[in-house]
Amino acid sequence: MEYTIVVGLEVHSELNTKTKCFCGCKNEFGDKPNTNCCPVCTAMPGALPVLNRDAVEKAILMGLAVGCKINNYSVFERKNYFYPDLSKAYQISQLEYPLCVGGGLEIEVDGKKKFIHLNRIHLEEDAGKLIHDNSGTLVDYNRGGVPLIEIVSEPDMNSAEEAVAYLEKLRSTLLYVGVSDCKMQEGSIRFDVNISVNKPGEPLGTRTELKNLNSFRAVQRAINYESNRQIEVLESGGKVIQETRRWDDEKGKTYTMRTKEDSQDYRYFPDPDLIPLNVSDEYIESIRTRLPKLAPERVAEYIKLGLTEQDANLLTAEKKYSDFFEKVLSYFNEPKFVCNWITAEVFKKLNAFEIDDREILVDAKSLAEMLEMYKNGEINQAGARKIFDIIWEKGGEPKKLVEELGLAQMNDEGALKEIIAKIVADNPKAVAELKAGNQKTMAFFVGQAMKATQGKANPKMVSSIVMELIK
Ligand SMILES: [Zn+2]
Repeated sequence: MEYTIVVGLEVHSELNTKTKCFCGCKNEFGDKPNTNCCPVCTAMPGALPVLNRDAVEKAILMGLAVGCKINNYSVFERKNYFYPDLSKAYQISQLEYPLCVGGGLEIEVDGKKKFIHLNRIHLEEDAGKLIHDNSGTLVDYNRGGVPLIEIVSEPDMNSAEEAVAYLEKLRSTLLYVGVSDCKMQEGSIRFDVNISVNKPGEPLGTRTELKNLNSFRAVQRAINYESNRQIEVLESGGKVIQETRRWDDEKGKTYTMRTKEDSQDYRYFPDPDLIPLNVSDEYIESIRTRLPKLAPERVAEYIKLGLTEQDANLLTAEKKYSDFFEKVLSYFNEPKFVCNWITAEVFKKLNAFEIDDREILVDAKSLAEMLEMYKNGEINQAGARKIFDIIWEKGGEPKKLVEELGLAQMNDEGALKEIIAKIVADNPKAVAELKAGNQKTMAFFVGQAMKATQGKANPKMVSSIVMELIK
């Protein structure tokens, strides 16, 4: 019998504030270990935390972007546990009274739309980082105290594909709002996956939790592995145990880490050093005015420009793609033409890289200049691609490049006629095929014409001249 897979996700996203959540230390990735630390973030006796206003505002901005209710009253609590990367032996977090509740995101998988509800978004601090090497384990407290938001979804997803679609949408939204750099390789966004299986009509199964995954691919593989593992346990008459499991990305398996703890095990209590956080409705509304234009609004605009919904979705999948598209349009206002080039040629280049490293390396103005020449027939597709490769690799002015490389398209009808007349005369068999209605033979003539002109012939002109000559 078929099982239903039930997935909920907790996403930890570091906020890109200048300083840490409760002290003035720099919030910076990659600095020399243990240089961005102070008595507050290492919990020296007598040191007192002071809340970072920017962290609060960025958490609220994200909450507003995904339709959360922002609570006027929220409380910071201590989550107590010992681990070497946590110098205070507690983490400042929110439990009972989080900053944001509700909201959600719409995802689309195989053409089916679905709304994923959020339970909450709360503000907390990150822990330090353990570095394991041959000499043993080292600890870097630079990350300790960096502000994080934890975005907790309801268990609304029923497949690995839905989970990944949700994470892509969430990452994209964080980047639109501009509150996190979302670099997975640097751990600034990390995922915990809750997963259970049950038969339709039966109550939810016992769930396991997979901690600290750091790529979409890991999430996808881990969900597929873990749901199959749970189904096998149940099918062989066993019981799924509530526990936290570790995902081993190399082996592609999950392992028991610890049997699942409940929140009472952490002895949460309100942090006596921090007063409750009160944010007024006026304050929340003033933050709302800073919300940038998000993807859905841009999609609606692009459809009005004549793009399909699918193209609009592709272009707005990331803020930087959408910004780039708009910038190219500001120089060359041909939405469909520009969109086609970006979604085909630009994306092809980007997809060769990991998601964190996908940077558009071409200048919007140069691309616009090249596309205009292509649209006007001054260069053909092969020439356009050649120029594009060059301006992507090392920049340059398309007009000059076309001259230097002799890529100007041959639009001289008289000269083309001469060349094509010879090709027609030399290939009676192909002419007969074309006359018999075999349209594919036209590709042969265009190919021959390109060969004779070093790729510069205007292919449309070639076709019409061939048709004219064989009449
Ligand atoms: Zn500090």
